[in-house]
Amino acid sequence: MSGKTTTVLTARGPAGETIEVPVGRVTGTRDGPTMLLVAGVHGSEYVGIEACKRIFLWANPDRLSGTLITVPCLNVPAFYGLAAHVNPIDGINPGRVFPGRPDGSYTERMVHLVWELARRADYVIDLHGGDLEEELVHYSQINLTGNAAVDDAAEGLARALNMPFFVRRPAPAELPMANSGLHPIAASHGIPAVLAEAGSHGVLDENEVSVLVGALRNALRHVGLIAEPLDPPREPLVLCRFEGVAAPAEGFWYPTVGKGEIIRRGQRVGEMRGFFDEPLATVTTGEDAAVLGVIATPARRKGDLLLGLGTLD
Ligand SMILES: [Zn+2]
Repeated sequence: MSGKTTTVLTARGPAGETIEVPVGRVTGTRDGPTMLLVAGVHGSEYVGIEACKRIFLWANPDRLSGTLITVPCLNVPAFYGLAAHVNPIDGINPGRVFPGRPDGSYTERMVHLVWELARRADYVIDLHGGDLEEELVHYSQINLTGNAAVDDAAEGLARALNMPFFVRRPAPAELPMANSGLHPIAASHGIPAVLAEAGSHGVLDENEVSVLVGALRNALRHVGLIAEPLDPPREPLVLCRFEGVAAPAEGFWYPTVGKGEIIRRGQRVGEMRGFFDEPLATVTTGEDAAVLGVIATPARRKGDLLLGLGTLD
């Protein structure tokens, strides 16, 4: 039956606590595909969370062909706990444990609730938004699977987001994947799935939210959920792999490149210094790449991420 409903999915946590995940469902008056939007895998990425809320408010069952399911905030403990990347209850990053398990850790049980929605969907969009220490460009990303129909559908959906950067990651050696993010896991199970990133530093920035809402509306048009003309397509910079630059030492991180910059193999991208400003390490890159994200927080331990790159080859 057509209409708009909200509910809370629940599961029992390992210590007997109740895990709750809010879900919105908009069922159109006409048949069509089912799209799942999931925000708040990282509960401090408010741009993705707010965009997901607004798409639910905006969607009109009378104008919808198919079903739109929204999870505005998967990681509610991180949302209230102001936690970056992890679920503060067990310290696990939900973006590393899809598809989860019904009898696993708190976070594994939490993501499994949403995996039960994702595995029945025709399309999945994994909405992020620049966590507390991240300064990000707008970008979309897919993980190739080797299944041309799935890969083409995912790429079409990613391109419909009209982001300036698009990362097309290579297929993993083995499918289906386990213990990864929502979009790679969904793709590896044959569901066209896309990552959408807009926002930085956990700031609820109105311009960033508008970009993401506009992108999502266009994605809904692209898959036929809404019969409206598409936005004019914008050719993104297509990138081949996502690679991180890791801190070579523990200390203060001073980047010398900004988000969106094109950097070249061997280029100096920043330096690490100590509490008395003593130089600890010069940081260089081994890739020709676009800088998708800069870690803007100075405190970095050895091995921590400094830059997120989309490689040119
Ligand atoms: Zn995130």
